[in-house]
Amino acid sequence: MGMEDEKLTGTGMDVKDEKPIRTGMGMEDEKLTGTGMDAGDEKLIGAALEARERAYAPYSHFKVGAALLTAEGRIFTGCNIENASYGVTNCAERTALFKAVSEGHTHFSAIAVAGGPAGAEKLPFAWPCGVCRQALAEFCGPDFRILTAGDGQKVRECTLAELLPHQFDSGALGGRGE
Ligand SMILES: [Zn+2]
Repeated sequence: MGMEDEKLTGTGMDVKDEKPIRTGMGMEDEKLTGTGMDAGDEKLIGAALEARERAYAPYSHFKVGAALLTAEGRIFTGCNIENASYGVTNCAERTALFKAVSEGHTHFSAIAVAGGPAGAEKLPFAWPCGVCRQALAEFCGPDFRILTAGDGQKVRECTLAELLPHQFDSGALGGRGE
């Protein structure tokens, strides 16, 4: 899929690209120059980082923010929302997705995720969990882009097809229902 070998070394996953991020907390300007990162992606990552600040994670202390980009260019953000009854917890990605769908948006082009322990200086490249991958697959095509921020100022990217191959979707049920 056009991936460059040198970027894959040691990652253990299909990482298409890794770029420095230009948005976020206390980053120095000189590190931001000439990154080549798309301005739209920067904005999306920035929105995810901002949403992460609103994470409600008193149990895991693992704070996640997500920013979902609609086909029309609108951004819906979400954070993880935990619960004393752990299973009730909702992930940031699904919070953003459900907000968007509930407001009539069902076509999306990308999502940015920023997750890590509260107070962490460097985020650990958190990818959407399996449940969120399935939730996204209901509305997003194979080329839907997933960006994750981590390691200080970098972003990794892959597609939904790479993150959730052989997905179970409406096709298995004979098409989308009403
Ligand atoms: Zn999830």
